Amino acid sequence: MDSSSEDAATQAGEAPTDAGAATVTSSAAGPVDERVAIAPTSLSPSRASDFMQCPLLYRFRVIDRLPEKPSEAATRGTLVHAVLERLFDAPAAERTAPQARALVPGQWDRLRESRPEVTELFTDDPDGERLARWLGEAEQLVERWFTLEDPSRLEPAERELFVEAELESGLRLRGIIDRVDVAPTGEVRIVDYKTGKAPRPEYAEGALFQMKFYALVVWRLKRVVPRRLQLVYLGSGDVLTYDPVPADLERVERKLLALWEAIKRATESGEWRPRPTKLCGWCDHQAHCPEFGGTPPPYPLPVRAAESDAGPQGRMGPD
Ligand code: SF4
Repeated sequence: MDSSSEDAATQAGEAPTDAGAATVTSSAAGPVDERVAIAPTSLSPSRASDFMQCPLLYRFRVIDRLPEKPSEAATRGTLVHAVLERLFDAPAAERTAPQARALVPGQWDRLRESRPEVTELFTDDPDGERLARWLGEAEQLVERWFTLEDPSRLEPAERELFVEAELESGLRLRGIIDRVDVAPTGEVRIVDYKTGKAPRPEYAEGALFQMKFYALVVWRLKRVVPRRLQLVYLGSGDVLTYDPVPADLERVERKLLALWEAIKRATESGEWRPRPTKLCGWCDHQAHCPEFGGTPPPYPLPVRAAESDAGPQGRMGPD
């Protein structure tokens, strides 16, 4: 799912998350007046990408759980994903572009009900002009999908599949896969929709990281290496595919373990370094970021143990 999926509802934030929290230790004699940070217990592709992009951003999202404003791009991603998922409820012959476009208004209503904060996006649009344009853009993205895939010839084995696997090290990997196709031969294809544009070839590896992450989870869960990873870019009308081999996934596992060690060290030391890049322009947390004259919240945080595992509700940048 794209950070629009994973992040926006999940795409807005991956559903279940890489939990992280700070709490108070206690002893048999009673609570101890010392706060310690509790290491996050799992990792998702979006949060792994956050840490690689900027450790301080990871802290703000996973440890501090700072709220993030919904964005038009991420919310449109969530809406488009919902439409593509729901279309498979219809019989194959009815999975047409007009049918898919017709689902957009109803899915927007559902999204507003489940995440009322998204209505903030259009509070300054009394005549509904911007909303109409935004919905039109969502319809165009949905329509473009039909130039890339033919849903009348697909019968997904899974849609919006939550997956979780524990590595031997104890690290739990989790995420939500947009679509899983299984061929009669048993070969598995993992598909992810992106409402943004395809990256330039030199950045394709970064785009494939999320897919290899999912492939590793599926491999660990089902003991089957997915035959194909497929990214469908609705923004530019491109499809990026990759056929992984076990060595690819072993490399990703080593990378994730190294990342996890770095996250644990930062959690223990409290050193979450900002790493400014042009993506800071998409960051909701500049007011707390030293790179922009801000001050992070105290660390570790006051107790928020046993809080829900809900993660950040936004994703940075277009998906
Ligand atoms: S503004 Fe940039 S450097 Fe600061 S937390 Fe956000 S992404 Fe990191």
